[in-house]
Amino acid sequence: MKNLALLGSTGSIGKQTLEVIRETSCARVRVLTAGKNITLLESQIEQFLPDFACVSSEKDAAFLSKRLRKKGIQTEVFFGDDGLVAAATLESCDTVLNALVGAAGIRSTYAAVDAKKTVALANKESLVAAGAVIIPLAQKNDVRIIPVDSEHSAIFQCLSGNNNFEKIYLTASGGPFRGKTKQELQNVTAADALRHPNWTMGAKITIDSATLMNKGLEFIEAAWLFDALPNQIEILVHPQSIIHSMVCFADGAVIAQLGAPDMRVPIQYALTFPERQLNSFPRADFFAIKNLTFEKPDYETFPCLKIAIDAFKQGGTVPAVANAANEVAVAKFLRGEIKFYDIPQLIESTINAYIKNNKTRLEILDDVLTADKIARQICETFYIER
Ligand code: NDP
Repeated sequence: MKNLALLGSTGSIGKQTLEVIRETSCARVRVLTAGKNITLLESQIEQFLPDFACVSSEKDAAFLSKRLRKKGIQTEVFFGDDGLVAAATLESCDTVLNALVGAAGIRSTYAAVDAKKTVALANKESLVAAGAVIIPLAQKNDVRIIPVDSEHSAIFQCLSGNNNFEKIYLTASGGPFRGKTKQELQNVTAADALRHPNWTMGAKITIDSATLMNKGLEFIEAAWLFDALPNQIEILVHPQSIIHSMVCFADGAVIAQLGAPDMRVPIQYALTFPERQLNSFPRADFFAIKNLTFEKPDYETFPCLKIAIDAFKQGGTVPAVANAANEVAVAKFLRGEIKFYDIPQLIESTINAYIKNNKTRLEILDDVLTADKIARQICETFYIER
């Protein structure tokens, strides 16, 4: 049984990970972390009795610690970014599932790999921004990074250790705005964008799915995880979300991974790999599904997709800049401060301004963290100027 540090346990992936553990008993939970939702974290701690927990602020850590002591629970509570790094590197854990959202997860992924923990990775932003330092470190430390993202889990399962592939077919549902025109999307709101047809996820990734930035981030994640060149990754819009991705091998044979759209399945696989374990989650019903269809992505209507891929091609810290600007822009869109097409515009403007005045060389993790910080400042300035 794995000794698990679950980072981001109060989020969509975090909660589903705990469901998987309740269902299969495949891991002993040693660490749980939250940002601000200490009410939910407290109830998770009561159920799983981890050794350690972490929250964002010192005040919340003190408050939670006091409440736990009153209940006779001995869980030690850390706080802040350093607390997350401590949580990701604890001696008592062999596996870290990183379900933090955004760049907040980068340092802990790096720290877990540095501490030679097996990493089950949901936090795609880690590889998007810092793949250039995390992947070589994982190779050097002989650390396995097992993808949790359904598409990457699918590719991982299709490859089964055979990297002699010609092409990866990365599938995409198309999000809530598939088939719409640019004109129709000018005035869509966050509430419209949050209505994903196939998946229930955290707010940031749901907006990323609506802009297709999510697929761009996944493109970069796939390139790092599977050592694929950009021309070896083809995005296929597959609205049914039944094929989670496919691999075409050197001999032309294509292997696909299919199943009901349920994140608990790839989460479970990341925790039980290389074994498979029985669960009671719903199965795909092929008679009900009837059709599996495929379309080309609409780069014109969803410019974020090309922006992300181009950022990856530029390399260095440019993907970290794109990622940071996207986070700032999505947060603004969620608060109703900007329009849908302001998101790609802000990302593009931030990248251009960053490149003009800053180095894009990426050698160490600090280069990524600095680029992330500068990009956020630039993006905020653009917003103020508008
Ligand atoms: P959520 O927003 O639902 O959850 C994010 C988690 O991270 C919460 O526990 C939140 O804590 C915590 N958190 C956020 N910011 C901070 C911070 N600054 N410091 C510490 N903790 C923080 O996200 P999701 O679960 O949807 O996504 C998590 C990751 O998984 C993302 O990278 C996403 O792209 C990826 N992913 C998600 C999928 C899904 O189905 N949801 C599918 C595939 C990938 P709190 O809420 O307590 O503030």
